[in-house]
Amino acid sequence: MFIKNEAKMKEDEEMFGECHAHLVMDGENYKHAVSIHEKGVQEDAVRRWLEVYQKMDIPFIRDGGDALGVSKKAKEIAWEYGIDYRTPIFAIHKKGHYGKIVGREFSDLKEYALLVKEVKRQKGDFIKIMLTGIVDFHTVGVVTSSPLQREEIHEMIHIAHEEGFSVMGHVNGNETVTIAAEEGIDSIEHGNYIEEEAIEAMREYHTIWVPTIATIKNLEGKGRYDDQVIQEIYAIQKERIKKAWDKKVILALGSDAGAYAVPHGQGIYDEWNAFCDMIGEEKEAMKQRLKTGEEEIKKRFSKDTVH
Ligand SMILES: [Zn+2]
Repeated sequence: MFIKNEAKMKEDEEMFGECHAHLVMDGENYKHAVSIHEKGVQEDAVRRWLEVYQKMDIPFIRDGGDALGVSKKAKEIAWEYGIDYRTPIFAIHKKGHYGKIVGREFSDLKEYALLVKEVKRQKGDFIKIMLTGIVDFHTVGVVTSSPLQREEIHEMIHIAHEEGFSVMGHVNGNETVTIAAEEGIDSIEHGNYIEEEAIEAMREYHTIWVPTIATIKNLEGKGRYDDQVIQEIYAIQKERIKKAWDKKVILALGSDAGAYAVPHGQGIYDEWNAFCDMIGEEKEAMKQRLKTGEEEIKKRFSKDTVH
């Protein structure tokens, strides 16, 4: 009877899932975290993180991929922790562009198509593609690396959809976010420095936006970057996310847990707190809307969703 009550309590609380994590990373030191798995996946390390998520009542994780098979292993054993785990196995990036730290590269679309087939063979749930670099935390308004172009983005999304996969896209900057949304990408991850145009495109094409704001907010006071620069970048994002919220873009919570200063488990609570700060509306209504975004991710990001 007590067990029943306890379960009911949890049901009422309805915890958020984590819509963007990397189990291969530890939130502190990328090199060290990855080195553990270099000669094969260390199941103990994977189990340790899954336990953290289980203890914090996080029932859903969508991984952003890695090159070492860590998220694949996590998916195989996550059910033991009552966690619904989705993975792209590895992320896919174009040779010479950003993305090496989470996946595998291609030179041309033929190679890309083979990688998509490889994800299928390894029973991945969706395709993760890297379309731009990341925010340069030293300078306000700058994205590293060079973005991919529309023709290529179009083909990449098309090929993945043809194979029955949804597409999660690592994208920053107004132009590339707009293109990716117009070309039918299923979710935009990060989406820093976007303008009205990209917000409008995401609204129109029902793209899910996962801003991973914890990756910026959590840098404050860490001493790695100039806090003033971090605060300025956060202020810009705060304004854009609020705008997208008001325009009814589908938003979901994902913290990029595992990235520097974003701890597993705690990350999704940090993301939620940042959203409360950015949106400033009544919490229950916000929660409901963000849960709807999460449900949309659960629905779309499983194998053989019809496109
Ligand atoms: Zn990520």
